[in-house]
Amino acid sequence: MKVVVKIGTSTLAYPSGRLNIRRTEEICKIISDLKNSGIEIILVSSGSIGMGVGKLSLKNRPSDMPTKQAAAAVGQCELMYTYDRLFSEYNHTVAQILITAADIKHEDRHINFSNTLNRLLEMGVIPVINENDTIATEEIVIGDNDTLAAIVATSAKADLLILLSDIDGLYTANPSVDKSAVLIPEVHEIDDRIMALGGGSGSSLGTGGMKTKLVAARICTEAGCDMVIANGSEPESLYDIVAGRSVGTRFYGKKGK
Ligand code: ADP
Repeated sequence: MKVVVKIGTSTLAYPSGRLNIRRTEEICKIISDLKNSGIEIILVSSGSIGMGVGKLSLKNRPSDMPTKQAAAAVGQCELMYTYDRLFSEYNHTVAQILITAADIKHEDRHINFSNTLNRLLEMGVIPVINENDTIATEEIVIGDNDTLAAIVATSAKADLLILLSDIDGLYTANPSVDKSAVLIPEVHEIDDRIMALGGGSGSSLGTGGMKTKLVAARICTEAGCDMVIANGSEPESLYDIVAGRSVGTRFYGKKGK
């Protein structure tokens, strides 16, 4: 079984941008354990800008491009250092892959990316993928790691994509606005009614909100891959998700793809 896990900034970091050490350690421990059980794992990790903001002690998330990209360059080092250190404790090796939208659009580069990914998995490595925030510009940006994770899942022919977010799953409305919203545990068809539930991001550090998660679900399910949105504050649920038990919202991949 091949699983892509996307970790959002709000899962990895506190609102200040500083690393949530307990949470991140827990996630790395569980992913190491799942890997030991024979599951191939690819990580898509946000957090470079957020961690750069913390490391540089900036007061706010920067809005101008050069400062954002400088923060990403600092934060990406910190992020990989953290993963390398935590996974090493369980004897796992990580590899960093940074890509841009142009790499995906370019056929040869896309093939190279898929080949490298597969070779790393054969070698037992945990690839950690992020958009190359230091060179991506608005014109060539994938823009959010939900979509990036879906592209990675289809490129790697994964069985399952798990998006760890700051919310339990897809609700009938944005719960931060509508208190009567209820969780939708299963989605078999992503029709216009489901797409309309995609509100924007609720946190200061998250970027995509539900909209990009629904776009990701469309990409994944079209390729026959299941996708689950679950709360990153309960990493133990990863065991249940890979075992197929009901956690968060599961979007079912189209059969026969
Ligand atoms: P992350 O960075 O962890 O992926 P985001 O902030 O990008 O998190 O996305 C999750 C947020 O999307 C939720 O906290 C919520 O405020 C918002 N949201 C908008 N519409 C919905 C909906 N229908 N169901 C659940 N969450 C929603």
